[in-house]
Formats: sequence, C-alpha cells, structure tokens
Amino acid sequence: MEATLCPKPHFVVIPWPATSHMIPIVDIGCLLAAHGAAVTIITTPSSSQLVQSRVDRAGQGSAGVTVTAIPFPGAEAGLPDGCERTDHIPSPDLVPNFFVATARFGEAVARHCRRLPTATAAHPRPSCVVAGMCHTWAHGVARELGAPCFIFHGFCAFALLCCEYLNTHRPHEAVGSPDELFDLPALPPFEFRFARRQLPIHFQPSSSIPEDRHRELREFELAVDGIVVNSFDELEHGSVSRLAAATGKAVLSVGPVSLCGAAAPPSLLDSRANSDDARLCMAWLDAKRADSVLYVSFGSAGRMPPAQLIQLGLALVSCPWPVLWVIKGADTLPDDVNEWLQRNTDGSGLPESQCLALRGWAPQVAILEHPAVGGFLTHCGWGSTLESVAAGVPMATWPFSAEQFLNEKLIVHVLGIGLSVGVTKPTESVLTGAKDGGGKADADVGMEQVKQALDMLMDGGADGEARKTKAKELKAKSKTALEHGGSSYMNLEKLIQFGA
Ligand code: UDP
Repeated sequence: MEATLCPKPHFVVIPWPATSHMIPIVDIGCLLAAHGAAVTIITTPSSSQLVQSRVDRAGQGSAGVTVTAIPFPGAEAGLPDGCERTDHIPSPDLVPNFFVATARFGEAVARHCRRLPTATAAHPRPSCVVAGMCHTWAHGVARELGAPCFIFHGFCAFALLCCEYLNTHRPHEAVGSPDELFDLPALPPFEFRFARRQLPIHFQPSSSIPEDRHRELREFELAVDGIVVNSFDELEHGSVSRLAAATGKAVLSVGPVSLCGAAAPPSLLDSRANSDDARLCMAWLDAKRADSVLYVSFGSAGRMPPAQLIQLGLALVSCPWPVLWVIKGADTLPDDVNEWLQRNTDGSGLPESQCLALRGWAPQVAILEHPAVGGFLTHCGWGSTLESVAAGVPMATWPFSAEQFLNEKLIVHVLGIGLSVGVTKPTESVLTGAKDGGGKADADVGMEQVKQALDMLMDGGADGEARKTKAKELKAKSKTALEHGGSSYMNLEKLIQFGA
C-alpha cells in the first residue's frame, strides 16, 4: 500500500504584545515544536528579537519555529514611534489607540496569512491558531484558514473559572459598594469572598477600556474552539474540567512552560536580563545559605506609590534575612525616595550586602530556582506564581490588580503554599512612562503588616514547614506533568491533534 503523505501540523502563534504574555506563549510555541509541529510566531518588529532569542535557547523546540515580524501600525492610530507593546504605552489615555492599532495589525496578519504559499512539507498550511486574549480578530483569521482557534489568556484555569462564574452569574453587580464582599462559589467546597475592586478590570464599573471592546473580548472567548493554559492539571484542583464543562470548550493545560528552557545557563535564561546584573545577583545568591534569601518582585511592570514603596522598604531592610529586591520604575520615583533607596539598599552585589536592590530586569526563573531562595514576596501574577511553584518556593502574597486577587486564593487557600500579606485594595500602579512615580496615594499597607507576613513566610514554625513541604511536592508534580506521559505532555499531544 502506498504511504499517504501526512503534513505536519502547523501552528500560528500570535502573542498579545505584553512582555509577561509573550514569555509563556512563545514557550508554548517552542513546546509545540518540540512535539513535532511546525510553528510560526507572528510578532512586531520591536519584539522580534526578544522572541527570537527566547526561541533560540529553547533547545529541542527551536528548530521548528519561524519568527515572523509584521509592522505594527501604531503611528496610524496616534501612538508614539516604537510603541508596539503594552509596556511601551506612555499614558492610560492611549490604551484605546493601542487597541485600534492591534485591530489594524490583525488586518495585516490576515493579509499575510492569505499570501502564505501553498503547503510544502517544510511549510505546511497553517492548521491551528493560538492567539493572545485581546487579538479578537484571530478567530476570523483561523476561520479563513479553515483552522481551529485557541485563546491564551495567561490566566490559570482557576482564575478563568472564577471569571466564567462572574460572567454567567454576575454576583459583583449586586453589591452596593466596591468594598462590599460577595461570595464567588466557583470551586466548591472552597468558599471565596471578594470585593468588586479586587476583580479583573473587565468586572469594574469603569475602566480605560471601552464597553464595546469588553463585549468584543467576550465574543472572542465564546467563539474560540479551546483554551490553552500555562498550568498543569494537578495544580488546579479540578478547575480545568469545571472550566471545560462551563464553557463547553477544550481546556488544555500545558505547563509550567518556564521549564522548557531549564537547560539553558542562568545568564541566558532571560534575554532581557542585563547579563552583568544577572551574573551579579547569581554570584550574590551563591554566597548565601540554602533557603535563607527572600526574593521580592512584583512582575514585569509592578510599581507602587512612593509612600507604599517606603513602607515595604522599611520592612525589607529590617528583616533578618538577606533580601533580593527587584524595583521597577526607579527612574520615575521622586528624588527623596531614590535617595532613601540608595542609603538603605545596596546595588553592588557584594556578598556581605543584606538587601540587594536590582533596578532592571531580573533573571527571575534562575533566581527562583537558586537553592538560596527560601521565600518569594509576589504580586501573584500568574507567570510568577507558576515559576515559584515550579521551583518549590513558598510565597507571601501581595496582589496588585488584574486577576491577582483570584490567584492569591489559589495559592493560600487551595494549595496551602503561601500566606497572605492581607492586602485588600489593589495597589495603585501606573503605566510605564508616567513621571509622578506612581501617583500620590498613601500607603495602604504598613511596614509592620509586611514584616509580620515575611516573618511567617521565612520562619513560620509548623505552618511554615507545611507550606514548604507542599511547595516541594508541587515542584515534583510540575516536572512530572511535562515528562513523557505526564498530564501537560498529554495535553500538548491533544493540542497537536487539533492541528493535525
Ligand atoms: N520577569 C522577569 N524579570 C523581572 C520581572 C518579571 O523575568 O524583572 C518575568 C517573570 O519571570 C514572569 C513575567 O516576567 O515570567 C511576569 O509575569 P507575571 O504574570 O508574574 O506578572 P505581570 O508582569 O503580568 O504582572
């Protein structure tokens, strides 16, 4: 019998242009390639180098990945030159313009896909699209190609399940004030209560994103064929199957994808990390005892008002553990706050320094995996949370915004690998480029409150030991999930089948 030529599945992966979204979705592309698919990652010129360098060090997967840059029509939409990622947007007023530009970018992507050559063995016709959550046009592109479309939010399945519950039952609309607590029974028997102000932006009564845009985002969620999640089934306590039942869609958790680059040397683990800074902090960590260091970071953009930063700083410099503190937006802080930081922290990386402040981009995955790190004060962004899980590091939780209050519940109450600092309101943050250093807001969280949580995290007696043990167990499970036959491995295979 003559053998039939079975073309390789070809995935078109379109990251939403925000650094913390690009990191995992590019890793997903590399994992798909490692599982035998051809992968085209479509990005914009100013992000293509970032994407390519991440692909290059993914090892096994990188050979099957092509990075294609399509011009981003930012200027046409009134954005400044070079503004191609959400972290480039200079002011919240320009968020709607950014959405206009991404819609036009979508038209250019559609034209590009139409022009793709007829399938060859090396470049088969695209057979599945995986798109970042705000690229609502991706569904149309997929339909034109006759391919299924998957959405990637960057959220965990638990947070998506909570959002699905909110979308369907709308309990947040029955409250009288943004602080009134309401029940969100998305994952019984766990009981969760939230205030409306703790929910993602699309559940707030007013936001910088127009109402019709929210509707469009929801329509995209409803239209797609499936949801790809950077997580693993064992971490989600049944949220994956509940989400699949609630949405009627395939929900495939394929992570933790940060482990796909684990073989790379630490200085290369993150191309945005300045290699001097990376070497400095790894050498500083090398000089510390196992489990003795507290790592503090609030994601790719997390900044707090100056008054809040000082309260946090006072807690950090007074704690008995060595602290590695990543500070974002230091260039926009008022002079007196910067002077305080200069006096009280150390950027030299000398082995004896107690509080090492890193003002740039930290090689976070390598830091969390370093044996000296014993605890992580985090804003509960899902990328950071999962990287901490994969490294077996317990967390103190300080959610800022977005879905981070939801993630906090998973970390603290469902998984038992963290304790809450007790933050009840979103931490005011501003988009990059604002010159007031994050607003004039007072500190909601005092130094003592932070100190207490950090004491518990680093030296929490029996509870602390229980958190550490659970964190180590989940670390082992996260590795198994990606190994041959593990849950994430099998989900990647299922995703490949959608493109076959
Ligand atoms: N990250 C990093 N170095 C930094 C800050 C952030 O490597 O100095 C990475 C981090 O490892 C994670 C992502 O950026 O992969 C942040 O994603 P997360 O979802 O935690 O937070 P967000 O930036 O979306 O608030």
